[in-house]
Formats: sequence, C-alpha cells, structure tokens
Amino acid sequence: MEERISRIDLKRNVTAHWEEYQEAISNVMRETAFSGGKYADQFDREFAAYCGVKGCSGVNNGTSALHCAMLALGIGPGDEVIVPANTYIATAWGVTYTGAVPVFVDCTADTWELDPDLIEAAVTERTKAIIGVHLYGQPFEFNRVKEIADRYGLYVVEDCAQAHGALYEGRKAGSLGEMGCFSFYPGKNLYAFGEGGCVTSDNEDYIRHINRLKNQGCDVRYYHDEVGYNMRLEGIQGAVLSVSLKYLDEWTQRRIEIGNRYLREIQNPLIQMQCHPENTQTVFHLFVVTTPDRERFMKHMEEAGIYCDMHYPVPCHLQKAYAGLGYRRGDCPNAEYLAEHCNSLPMYPELTEEEILRVIEACNSFKG
Ligand SMILES: *Cc1c(COP(=O)(O)O)cnc(C)c1O
Repeated sequence: MEERISRIDLKRNVTAHWEEYQEAISNVMRETAFSGGKYADQFDREFAAYCGVKGCSGVNNGTSALHCAMLALGIGPGDEVIVPANTYIATAWGVTYTGAVPVFVDCTADTWELDPDLIEAAVTERTKAIIGVHLYGQPFEFNRVKEIADRYGLYVVEDCAQAHGALYEGRKAGSLGEMGCFSFYPGKNLYAFGEGGCVTSDNEDYIRHINRLKNQGCDVRYYHDEVGYNMRLEGIQGAVLSVSLKYLDEWTQRRIEIGNRYLREIQNPLIQMQCHPENTQTVFHLFVVTTPDRERFMKHMEEAGIYCDMHYPVPCHLQKAYAGLGYRRGDCPNAEYLAEHCNSLPMYPELTEEEILRVIEACNSFKG
C-alpha cells in the first residue's frame, strides 16, 4: 500500500524549523511577554514592512481582524456590506457582529472571485463597504471593485486570510484596500501555533483605533475611552510568526511551483481549475478543482491514497445561520455550483516530487 497523501501536513513544516521555534518561544517565556508586548509588537512592524504598508495591528484571530476593520470604519446597525457568497463564513461574521447586514454577491464562473458586474445591483443607500476576498490565494479584481466603490462612496476591505504575499499588479495583498484582514490560523500560508490574525493599513488612524479596540478600549491602562474587546495577539504567536515570516517567501515559491505543475500537467476535461489573471500572482493557499461528480472523484482519489477536502460545501447565503436574510437556492448560481462540485487537492510546500506526480496521475486517470 502506498503512503497516504493528505490535503495538508503541518508536521513537516514545524519539524523543519523546530529549534528556531523553540528558541523564539523560550524568549517569550524568559521575558513573560505573553499577551501583546514586545514580540507581538515586533511582528506588527515586520508584517507591515512585508506588506508594504504603514501599519499593522495583530489580533487574536482573522475573524476579529474583520470585525475590528468593520468597527474602525464605523459600520454598525442599519448598514449593509457586500460580501462574496463563496468564502469562508468568517468574512460575513465580521459584518454581522457589528449589527450590520452582509449582502451576498455571486462570483464569476472562471476566477471564482466576487463578480464586479453584479456589485452595482446589490448597492443600496445603506451600503457602506465591500469586502473582497482573495479566495484560495488568488487576488480578486481589485481595480474594478474599487472603481465601483468610488462611484458610490464605499470602502473596500480586503479579506487576505488566504493570500499572504499574493500580488495584484505588483502590489501585495493587504496594501490595496482601506484595510487588509489576515488570519494566522494553522494551515494558512503563514500560521501561528494556535490562533492569530492582523489588520494592515496605510491609514495609521485605523491601526491606532484597532490597537485600542483590541485592548479593552484603552490607550492608557484602566482608562477605557470606548467599549473595547480582549482581542490581543499573544506574545508566543508573535514570536512564532516572526520566525515563519522569514520563510514565507520560500514556502510561497514552492506553492507556486506545485500549483503551476498542477495547472500544466493535470489534463482531464472532467476537471476544471480556477483562472489566474495575468496581472496577479496567486499564492495557492488551496488548489481547488471542480468535477461533475464530486463523490466519485473523491472516491477515485482515495483509492489512490490521496485525501482531498471541500472548501466550502455550503455557500454563505445558504447557511442556516443566515436563513433569516431570506436567500434562496438559485440566488448565486456560480457559488452554488462551486459548493456542490469543489474538491481541494493536496497543497503545501513540503509535498515531494513523488507525491506531486501521484496527485497529477490520479487526476488524469479519473474517468468520471
Ligand atoms: C480563515 C479565514 C477567516 C477567519 O480566520 P480565523 O483566524 O479562523 O478567525 C476569514 N476569512 C477567510 C477567507 C478565511 O479563510
């Protein structure tokens, strides 16, 4: 029996830098800089520089990053925010937590990103912002979204949870919109040893505001200027992320090599892949394909010892949690098609040559 190939294997990644991580964690222990503090602040500076923006505020996870970005824009009850229907649900949670309402818009049939042609029809006098998601690591069509946003006086926020280091016309994800929201959940391209996230921006007022919001509403300890939250980034996560950030470009390069091989060498009319426009560089957080019959494809892959996953089996507008918003099947047909037919192939920097070949061969031998 051949070795099993899983969708992701973090053990290989952690093992490769074990001692460096241990040393980083020991430093935090020595200085007891556990919540926020020196190592969390240092990571903020490093990640802002990496993204090419003036500021970064580390928070406790990506969902909080989105929530804080909405709060910093003053979004709240009575407001609407446009969100793609095919994304991880947390993109919409950030809106809902403020009391505003997410308005779901379909994706295109080829890039699987927010469809700029459908945005205008979703704008109302209550619309305040658009959250674009760089889905699976592929930057969304920022310029067209921004042009519509400017026409209606809306903010554009980037959900960069899957797109650390991705490029749009040479600019990094997280430096395009009003703010960029990142997640460092284990399995993301840059990840913490637990939970983590951050907001990036060129507007330091937003960063200052989020620094206060995440810190119980304080600039000065015990003086609470507004209702705040406990959403600080842990020191250990900051220290671990600073180690990983040094390797991010190397890991990304490897993802791009593997992704490009899948794109070139998987040749099967039953398998569709995401489109990657020329003016972008995806970072292949996930390698998602669609097949006419997902159950049979997954079974075929499992027989070859390859374990795929689904990102995501239910689009946001059809989640039970949002049943109250009144969406129906058929409202976002492309997102619904993706949800029913998507499979995520193994994708992580440590895949071996032999494993990559096995994935390609298994895909090419699928007969439906
Ligand atoms: C992971 C993810 C989030 C949420 O991040 P957490 O750190 O898990 O809270 C938000 N949006 C997208 C697109 C994601 O993939």
